[in-house]
Amino acid sequence: MTYVFDAPPQASLAVQNSTARFPVRRIFCVGRNYEAHAREMGNDPDREPPFFFTKPADAAIDTPCTIPYPPLTNDLHHEIELVIAIGKGGANIAPANVADHIWGASVGIDFTRRDLQAEAKKTRRPWDWSKAFDNSAPIAPLKPIADVPSLTNGRIWLAVNGEVRQDADIADLIWSVADHIATLSQGMTLAPGDLVMTGTPAGVAATVPGDIITGGVDGIAELSVTLAPPA
Ligand code: MN
Repeated sequence: MTYVFDAPPQASLAVQNSTARFPVRRIFCVGRNYEAHAREMGNDPDREPPFFFTKPADAAIDTPCTIPYPPLTNDLHHEIELVIAIGKGGANIAPANVADHIWGASVGIDFTRRDLQAEAKKTRRPWDWSKAFDNSAPIAPLKPIADVPSLTNGRIWLAVNGEVRQDADIADLIWSVADHIATLSQGMTLAPGDLVMTGTPAGVAATVPGDIITGGVDGIAELSVTLAPPA
């Protein structure tokens, strides 16, 4: 096998207490998965099945990190999210069997160019331009599932320059990890290396260059992201 030019590097993330890295295949994101956040975005969270969007694999970057404030936006929002790392693929996975497919977990930020998302919603265009840009998914080193205390409860939080803006519990997920990954596997055959960003709680807000963003899920991981001036 030869390629017309060097194949791009495999996207990957750090693993806690290990030099081996997790190879990233795809990034699936769940929309509106906490009631209070759905309401703050002007939606009725009742009875809506989970829906998904994606980011490119190389949007996932290690933390701590410093990234430039992205282009084309004046309204970059933070969305702190529990991240699930898939280690075993499958389709039509039953909720009771989802745990067998999980390699580990972490915490990440689903950065969102909110002004571009609002424009996309208004014009009924895709969300990619608002969600799937460079460095849009900083993720803390992954924790192997054997060391994860719980995927059903635990504080999830985010602070900007030390001021807490998002503070909730993963017990508040509308669609649990087991339920939304089961649903995802009905529409896509999951594969090792896939990541699932499970949705954000209320408190999303704008950031500016110079902000230092910290966040975590208790017992799983913590992250730190510094926003530099635009490149
Ligand atoms: Mn999100």
